[in-house]
Amino acid sequence: MLTIAKVIVDVPSHQTNQTYDYLIPDALREDVGIGFRVRVPFGSRIVQGYVVDVILEQSSEYDLKPIHSLLDDYPVLTSELVSLGQQLAKQTFAFAINCYHVMLPALLKVDYDKTLTWIGNEADKPDWFVKESLSWDEIVDVERIRFVLKAIQSQQIRVDYVVKDKANHKMRKLVHLVHTQDVVIRKGSPKLSLLHELLLKQTPLDMKELNENGVSLATVKSAVKQGWATIESVVDYRNPFNEKQFALNVAKVLNQEQQNAFLTIKQSILQHQHHTYLLQGVTGSGKTEVYMHLIQEVIQKGKSALMLVPEIALTPQMVNQFKGRFGNRVAVLHSGLSKGEKFDEWTKIRKKEASIVVGARSSIYAPIDNLGIIIIDEEHETTYKQMDTVRYHARDVAIMRGQYHHCPVVLGSATPSLESRARAQKGVYTHILLNQRANQKALPTVQVVDMTKEKKSGNFDVFSQSLKEAIQTRLDQKEQVVLLLNRRGYSSFVMCRDCGYVLPCPNCDISMTLHMDTKTMKCHYCDHQEKIPHICPSCQSKNIRYYGLGTQKVEEELNQLFPDARVVRMDVDTTRKKGQHEKLLDTFGSGKADILLGTQMIAKGLDFPNITLVGVINADTSLNLPDFRSSEKTFQLLTQVAGRSGRGEKAGEVIIQTYNPEHYAITLSQQHNYEMFYRQEMKMRHLGKYAPFFFSTRLSISHHSEATALKTALELKKIIEQYRSDDLIVVGPSTHAIARINNHYYFQILLKYKNKAGVEPLQEAVLAFTQEKSKQKIYVSIDVEPLSFI
Ligand code: ADP
Ligand code: ZN
Ligand code: ZN
Repeated sequence: MLTIAKVIVDVPSHQTNQTYDYLIPDALREDVGIGFRVRVPFGSRIVQGYVVDVILEQSSEYDLKPIHSLLDDYPVLTSELVSLGQQLAKQTFAFAINCYHVMLPALLKVDYDKTLTWIGNEADKPDWFVKESLSWDEIVDVERIRFVLKAIQSQQIRVDYVVKDKANHKMRKLVHLVHTQDVVIRKGSPKLSLLHELLLKQTPLDMKELNENGVSLATVKSAVKQGWATIESVVDYRNPFNEKQFALNVAKVLNQEQQNAFLTIKQSILQHQHHTYLLQGVTGSGKTEVYMHLIQEVIQKGKSALMLVPEIALTPQMVNQFKGRFGNRVAVLHSGLSKGEKFDEWTKIRKKEASIVVGARSSIYAPIDNLGIIIIDEEHETTYKQMDTVRYHARDVAIMRGQYHHCPVVLGSATPSLESRARAQKGVYTHILLNQRANQKALPTVQVVDMTKEKKSGNFDVFSQSLKEAIQTRLDQKEQVVLLLNRRGYSSFVMCRDCGYVLPCPNCDISMTLHMDTKTMKCHYCDHQEKIPHICPSCQSKNIRYYGLGTQKVEEELNQLFPDARVVRMDVDTTRKKGQHEKLLDTFGSGKADILLGTQMIAKGLDFPNITLVGVINADTSLNLPDFRSSEKTFQLLTQVAGRSGRGEKAGEVIIQTYNPEHYAITLSQQHNYEMFYRQEMKMRHLGKYAPFFFSTRLSISHHSEATALKTALELKKIIEQYRSDDLIVVGPSTHAIARINNHYYFQILLKYKNKAGVEPLQEAVLAFTQEKSKQKIYVSIDVEPLSFI
């Protein structure tokens, strides 16, 4: 009988996007299974791969090669994730290997080396274990692999993860005692005796601690020489959350609406059934409390919960609540963690030391094998879609996992995406509404200020008269103000007043952005930087000026208008440093500032009772983007930020400054009327044949030669013509909204269709074309349900 492993190899190409058969040597038959990472011979090379299946066969018509070695002593992918990867590959037209890569923490992929150290009885140590520690990579002999796996289990061998790229990590030294029976320490070495004594009490010990106890590194080294101690270099994981104390967060009694929502969703938990719910609750309605009650229910049943948030760094209050309620059972995966810290949290989840996972997009692949609920908060956020390589949407993956685990998926939002709201309309999702704020207070009143009129009346300031007065009132009353500078698709630039010249990026078809903090011009697409020009490069005029509105500029104006106000500015420049975001929010939240001024990053999640005024300085900028979702994005942003006002006892007010006071995205957010917005926007989508009425796939073609890119786009269009049907609308080829980025020219073809299955043959043909072209360094990408059109 042959034991055969079906392996997906790490060679991302169309030809290799299939499994290859390898023999599992008899000795390892019991040890290697689905989800293991292996090394296998492939052509003349040894490559990595994932075991996706193991089968038994009498014989094989091929002369099968055995697997070369194992990469880990455990399967890194659960069998659920293995099959999810295959589904994902199909749906996103990605290579299976890339789908598996996307599921695993970055650290597992590249820069870790594993070393094996003998910590068991010296007598049991095999004679080939000659060095103090061996690299995992050296173990290729089947018998030895088997021996090592067993020895790890019986704790005779310790596995250490050694970072190859140490520059990125803080390292510390741990000193271990080797448990040999007889340690003979010569008299006259009190330091060695002390070390031995300390290690007997506790092993391993941090070198720092030993130092403090008067043991030097030299002493430890001589102990190592004598064979009874080992030094391990480990990454210094400083889990930022471990040091922090979290205020206890006691469960609140749910109000009627919340209780209804909770009981409805709870049914799926009790019946062990998959179903998707759209929990649509106005800002401040207490969706988080509903999530936490559901999670409590799930963990009481001995299961685990997974909750996604758009960006953890932006929602420290959410994390605090979860940690405060559920304590150490919560693992948090967020972008501020280093690769090592992420790997640590991932390991904690894999070892079932955490039953609640809170994280951003990629946490949807957390290796949990007993999921009881999946929650996606702010489900409308575009960060849930990965924009490159594997273009998946976390919402789709959540539903696939929900089906596998027979558990509910909850999509929460005050402003659901049109796609989700439409599915709720059709009954695909169950629609649950929370219409009241949890504290029964009214939503804030919203005033729209027409900035065209403001200019006509002679006010050319950033702030309208109304907003100025409203801010002054709040300052007088010791209440707090949030000011939003809407910067989506918007930036400050430099223009010559005489000839109109705008400094362009030499590599991209876009103007460069002015950064006052570093005094440079930067391109946001290719990172090109230049000095700020003082003379127009085109006409040599000195009459060159800054245009556009940056947060710094607004801050300066605020300081002039309200010299006594304490302002916290939050944008990419002030939050670049780790932990800075939370610090600034703390300052504001604890009342040490009066005004919080910021970009989109302040729009969501904030729950501070003393905010009674929200001002939107420029509502329009996101309306003018070349994207059919621009109205939706604007409506969502305005509704979210307005929702920060009046959450406490005092009533809230919102002032929106705009040049488009009649636009329905603005008037309907003024009225807090999501339903009307939904209906109006659905009409527009219907007319334009956009989502959710049509599915779409965006094909993007790029090359450094414009002619080659266009030629390829036309070639592709020819292929598409062969699959013409009444159901299919083909738009393009046309250039991207930014036609050139980093000296590559971009063209796109958009496919719109009603019948998903009908276009699959076409998509497959495009995938083959993609592969063929990549050999000539022409890149063709397939984006199913694109969210970005830049
Ligand atoms: P949302 O996420 O829906 O905007 P939050 O979850 O932030 O709303 O809740 C708004 C506020 O109401 C929070 O301060 C929360 O603690 C409070 N809250 C939620 N549910 C209740 C409840 N049942 N009783 C009292 N306060 C509640
Ligand atoms: Zn550029
Ligand atoms: Zn000029």
